[in-house]
Amino acid sequence: MRAGIRPGDYRPSAFSIMPISIRFVLPALWTALVAPGLLPGQAAAPVPRKYIGPPTVAEITAGDLMTRVYKFADDSMMGRQVGTPYNDMGTAYIESEVRRLGLQPAGDNGTFFQKVPLFTRVLDSASTIAVDGATFTAGTDFTAGANGFTKDVANATPVFVGAWLDTTRNIPVDSARGRVLVFVPGGLAPGTDIGKFVASNGYNQWLAMRAVAAANVVVIGEALSPNALRNAFQSTTTNYLQDWVPLTLNVTRAVGEALFGAPATSWTHRMAGKPITTSVRFVDTPKPGRNVVAMLPGTDPALRHQYVAIGAHNDHVGTRAQGPVDHDSVRAFMQVVRPQGADSDPRPATAEELVRVKAIIDSLRAISAPRPDSIYNGADDDASGSMTVLEVAEQFARGREKPKRSILFVWHTGEEAGLWGANYFTARPTVPRDSIVAQINLDMVGRGGADDVTGEDLEGKLLRGGEGYVQLIGSRRLSTEMGDLVEAVNAEKQLGLRFDYSMDANGHPQNIYCRSDHYEYARYGIPVTFMSTGGHADYHQVTDEPQYLDYPRMAQIGRLVFESALRIGNLPHRLKVDKPKPDPKGSCVQ
Ligand SMILES: [Zn+2]
Repeated sequence: MRAGIRPGDYRPSAFSIMPISIRFVLPALWTALVAPGLLPGQAAAPVPRKYIGPPTVAEITAGDLMTRVYKFADDSMMGRQVGTPYNDMGTAYIESEVRRLGLQPAGDNGTFFQKVPLFTRVLDSASTIAVDGATFTAGTDFTAGANGFTKDVANATPVFVGAWLDTTRNIPVDSARGRVLVFVPGGLAPGTDIGKFVASNGYNQWLAMRAVAAANVVVIGEALSPNALRNAFQSTTTNYLQDWVPLTLNVTRAVGEALFGAPATSWTHRMAGKPITTSVRFVDTPKPGRNVVAMLPGTDPALRHQYVAIGAHNDHVGTRAQGPVDHDSVRAFMQVVRPQGADSDPRPATAEELVRVKAIIDSLRAISAPRPDSIYNGADDDASGSMTVLEVAEQFARGREKPKRSILFVWHTGEEAGLWGANYFTARPTVPRDSIVAQINLDMVGRGGADDVTGEDLEGKLLRGGEGYVQLIGSRRLSTEMGDLVEAVNAEKQLGLRFDYSMDANGHPQNIYCRSDHYEYARYGIPVTFMSTGGHADYHQVTDEPQYLDYPRMAQIGRLVFESALRIGNLPHRLKVDKPKPDPKGSCVQ
């Protein structure tokens, strides 16, 4: 699951139209606790931190899931972050498994991989911009960025729009087309409801206005900051570059005043300036990141050209840049102070909470030694989903029951960075997009215990898991039939799962419907069901490790996915879409 967005994350940035940062606030506690989780079938023994299991069997089993998750979320995978070789290590394991299972390759050029266009990008220091006979130099007068491919601007007219993200100052799209939009720094007021803002007409018009501009310019102040220079010339950030987009320039006030031939204090809304011409080059270096795409052919000659897609994300968030922290102290702190992990607002512990944290530590510190930890293993997020999909694939490949329609298994990369792999797969699908009749997405399906805070309801009351707990999100947002079918499968097959729809509420502030890969399918009107056991204190922490997962629960969910996909695959008709489809180019609205 990708991180949520907070008001402070909306800053003027040359490098992204929607900058998102994951904030980690970690406790200054360095003592030890013992994991409360238990190995299935071993009531009193501590769960192993390392485990190498036997060969997997055809059926979806808790044992197989343990074998797979411990491998996929091992420290050697270093958090599987997109743009790193460790993401390739993860996808290599999945590829070797689907190959062994005899599934058909459905990626690029007869392979199981679909490469996603990912690059680090630095600005070529020879870049220049020219205004009214004056030439300005990259690194001194301006920096430039873009999250896509760009064209230079030739004699385009600047127009002053106002503060960044001030949607009350939007100009009509037709007036923005081909112009260079000039902004001064701005942002959202603290406490702004981000979900409402992102869904607002004003914000979507603001994006549309910027998208048709020849370029966007932010006049940042007297001089370029060291940070801006580092971002421009030494960036190691991985970018997903797919479309043509306008350049974004950060310029000094001197450049801004040349553009308008007047001091900044005299600029007025929609004031036009002098023509600007750019000569901006980037040096783009390819980075690792690929989807794994495998297919089980359907048995019916007429229906096998339709696909039921099942997916999860193969990436996580890498390693902790600031270095190691004590694993068990993080766990204790997060459980008491931030029970939804990174989804709980960062804050220090109160005095009362600190007493509780310390009490837990004092009672357990004699049992195990401190363990420095800097790897975001992502056992739940999303080794649990990726490996459950692999178990479903194994049962389809090795079992007797085969559906009439084909099953398409897609392990997406770059979900954590912004649903990149799913965005790319659905923009450039390796099967016709209209032939995908449904998508089932698994992201974080390994927790949901009675002690886990799995989310909040609309009133802010904390939700908790329990026996058979699983959240369903989006299952009736396009197709009532799909939502009903998943319910019927659970009941008729006596799978014992208990569905919580709280997180699917319209306007839910946690915005879960928009925060995982299924949305990239739903945006094209493909019915989806997102299954998750929800949040917990280890969400996006170094403590999200395999010993804390509920493997029998994952097997239950795997059986639900298998049976649901089988039923959708065997329906005499396509799932009926009876709800309005979203605008494929619009922002996601929950
Ligand atoms: Zn995540």
